[in-house]
Amino acid sequence: MTSTEIAVVGGGLVGLTAALLLSDAGFSVVIIDPVTALPVRDDPYDLRTYALTSTSRQIFSNLGVWSALDHGRIAPFSDMQVWDGARGGELTFPADLIPGTLALGYIVEHSNLLNAVQQVVQAQSRISGLGGQVTAITEGRESSTIHLGGRELRAKLILGCDGGDSPLRRLCGIACVEHDYAQHAVVANVTTVIEHANVARQRFLAEGPLAFLPLPPADLSSVVWTMSAEYAAWVQRCSDDEFCAALSAAFENRLGAVTATSRRLIFPLRRRHAADYSRGRVALLGDAAHVIHPLAGQGLNLGLRDAVTIAELVGAAPRASLNHPQTLLRRYARTRRGENLAMLLLTDQLNRIFAVRAPWFTWLRHTGLVGLNHLQGIKAELVAHAMGRRGELPPSVRDL
Ligand SMILES: Cc1cc2nc3c(=O)[nH]c(=O)nc-3n(C[C@H](O)[C@H](O)[C@H](O)COP(=O)(O)OP(=O)(O)OC[C@H]3O[C@@H](n4cnc5c(N)ncnc54)[C@H](O)[C@@H]3O)c2cc1C
Repeated sequence: MTSTEIAVVGGGLVGLTAALLLSDAGFSVVIIDPVTALPVRDDPYDLRTYALTSTSRQIFSNLGVWSALDHGRIAPFSDMQVWDGARGGELTFPADLIPGTLALGYIVEHSNLLNAVQQVVQAQSRISGLGGQVTAITEGRESSTIHLGGRELRAKLILGCDGGDSPLRRLCGIACVEHDYAQHAVVANVTTVIEHANVARQRFLAEGPLAFLPLPPADLSSVVWTMSAEYAAWVQRCSDDEFCAALSAAFENRLGAVTATSRRLIFPLRRRHAADYSRGRVALLGDAAHVIHPLAGQGLNLGLRDAVTIAELVGAAPRASLNHPQTLLRRYARTRRGENLAMLLLTDQLNRIFAVRAPWFTWLRHTGLVGLNHLQGIKAELVAHAMGRRGELPPSVRDL
């Protein structure tokens, strides 16, 4: 049987980032994941992209990941525009609402990010990888044994980063509150007649939000279009021309006509929140602990903050505390639950508020948006939240 100080179950972006942070703090880490190959990109730009906050950028910079990215493929965005599909009330968030801010965030492709993180992971002698799936965990006095279908690994601390379905969460008997949004997110990369000018735009429709996020070519946008299951089925069947025409209309031709599209990927949307973030020697991070509506582009950003928080708590404690990490893990759970739950509820409420079609409510919503657009102080505070500059910031990213 091999042994390690920390086992990370799930080698997605959250798991790999947690592994890097903990190895930087001097711990030996084994990453367990059934999938070891890098994603294959068969479109010029990945269909899966993330809006990263400046806090996430700082986390990746501290780890040497940011410099390993292909920077020619990253689009910083300097402004956000959000408007109501029903009556047109609009909010604009220019970066200069917060003096000295050049970018509100960065649109980065999944494969670019995963490649860079894996490059840095491979250069770490304290991190090793194991292919496989956890079938059982036996808790011992000063460590636990992880069973991997025939093989065994002993670890003092186990981080569950195995995504929204989290087999580890189920194995530990941690309950999860779930809600099916009855919405699907369709993602595609599209070319438009008008250039995006590095502005992130989102129109809120009753069926769900529609976002156009800038990619490096000035006429290329990454689209996240939330819709009903029935419409998503049509979107999967329809021709590219039909899709472009429907998308141009849904976006009110804000960027002129959509002239070309990639293939479409579809994600059913659900909200999930684990009832506990820790049990015994196991802590849950990222989507294993919380899955939120993608309308604010915050899911991965929250998961990265989970990773920094646990690494800083474990790194600051005496090494012997890993023999009995339960108190540390409860502190981690207390620190992260509030912020994650707040974002989960905020995105949930925004999705609901814009779904209401009653005329009196749409009037109220429109009036509220128009009024809010003139309140620079409140808008600056909202921008600070969207950039990840609020909440309980871990010390390593506090002084940006
Ligand atoms: C349409 C859409 C748009 C989004 N846009 C954004 C955005 O702009 N910004 C943002 O911050 N977030 C965004 N998100 C959310 C983001 O995608 C997720 O929060 C993030 O990918 C979660 O990362 P993770 O590492 O926790 O989980 P995952 O990426 O799901 O990784 C889980 C890992 O666990 C592994 N695994 C699975 N089962 C096992 C097992 N049994 N044993 C071991 N390993 C296992 C998997 O192979 C995988 O490597 C978006 C989500 C959607 C659906």
